[in-house]
Amino acid sequence: MNRRDFIKMTAAGAGATLSGSSLLPAQTPAPAPTRQETMVAMPISVAILAGPDLDRILGDMKERGGVTALFPFIYTHEEHRAGLDHQPGFRGGNYAIPHMEHYQGATLTYEDMRATEHGDVDVLDRAITAARKHGIKVFPFVLEDNHCPAGMPRWTDMYEIDAHGRRVTGHPSGPCKRHPAYRAWLGGVVEDYARSYDIGGMMWGAERGSGFLNMLNLGEVSRPTCFCEYCQRQARADGIDVERARQGFFAVEKLMRERRANRRPVDGYFTSFWRVLLNYPELIAWENLWVRGRHDLQAELYRRMKAANPALPMGWHVWQTVTFNPFLRAEEDYGVYQHFSDFVRPAVYNNCAGERFHAGASSGLAGPYGDLPPAQVAELLYHELDLKEAPYDKLVTTGFSADYVKRETRRAVDGLAGSKTQVWPGIDIDIPVPAGTSHCTPEGVKAAVRAVFAGGATGIILSRNYVEMKPENLSAAGDALRELGRA
Ligand SMILES: [Zn+2]
Repeated sequence: MNRRDFIKMTAAGAGATLSGSSLLPAQTPAPAPTRQETMVAMPISVAILAGPDLDRILGDMKERGGVTALFPFIYTHEEHRAGLDHQPGFRGGNYAIPHMEHYQGATLTYEDMRATEHGDVDVLDRAITAARKHGIKVFPFVLEDNHCPAGMPRWTDMYEIDAHGRRVTGHPSGPCKRHPAYRAWLGGVVEDYARSYDIGGMMWGAERGSGFLNMLNLGEVSRPTCFCEYCQRQARADGIDVERARQGFFAVEKLMRERRANRRPVDGYFTSFWRVLLNYPELIAWENLWVRGRHDLQAELYRRMKAANPALPMGWHVWQTVTFNPFLRAEEDYGVYQHFSDFVRPAVYNNCAGERFHAGASSGLAGPYGDLPPAQVAELLYHELDLKEAPYDKLVTTGFSADYVKRETRRAVDGLAGSKTQVWPGIDIDIPVPAGTSHCTPEGVKAAVRAVFAGGATGIILSRNYVEMKPENLSAAGDALRELGRA
């Protein structure tokens, strides 16, 4: 069975398990991969796809890294993903052509969607045509924008509302996953790409947690979301007391105000945090509501993809913070993912993980873990998350190890055992880090590639972006793949 037939078969099997909003277990276990079936993917900025050097670059990534698929950030309002940093007047948007018949129910207009930086060029079409010559497929990668596009009121209108009734404008909040116009737009993007272009598949992701989890972070005062009319309506339908939930969020806000002022509650931070949950169980119900909102959206995107073309795999970027935070990890349950996923891409960026985890240990869980110094938070998390990494004070100079890559890959593979969902982890190749912290090396990249397959993955996504990678580190990834018979 070749790769195309395999995908057709598994996609049809998965599509058959989804109907309406009911999610039934997927059935077909994935066969062992052969050499030809290994996915080796490369995310890439739009500017390169629109540029004169595209053919040479595709040849380079194929030769060095054994790349079989491009994952372009084809719809983005973020400068660095577009590859247009510091460009005056940058706006971004869809670098493909929106075909408006697919966007029924959306409020964004063609002008709202269509990016203007590359004039009339259909960058997705151009990329597909160029990549085909190299035997490379194209999977549009839509990553939710961290900030609301400026000057676009129809975007703003889709953003979450906090417990005080205020509209949010950006990270760490974002568009509400229940907003019908947002869902119509995003579903339209999936359907448009699947029906209008010869894509190989598609990936979507959002790098943010709920309002509740965001509020527990010391680093950034965040907003208690979402209390929009659609979330409130769903809450009432589920029998959740909206006003009690709102009061619970206010209690968390009060606790975090004390935490920021270093005024330790009489009973300590953990007990006080737990007491808030005890007094306002509606908080947990609201958190469950938020998580279901995202999973419902993913299941809907999956259905739209399968309705458009059952042969095309649909999968998800899984944010790296899931590997650092036990509360977030609980919400990103691979056992749930298997019902609406052809593949998942856990972000297991080991080098930059050192600096990221170091920062997170002192702020990310500062609400419940406020009584512990950061070094002890790190040790506690290693135990809770089953990680074996360097002591807290060494982390920024050591980074995380390849062992982390293997453990997190294995966790995803085991969580999806018995399903047809494939695991294609994203590994760190020169993701930018602050000065004075550890940097990627060819040996480290090779170890990470080996760890991905030792953990049971069937593919790999070289990450985060071709433009960030040193040639020798991309070659090292390719060398490891070739040694494994994967390229
Ligand atoms: Zn909402």
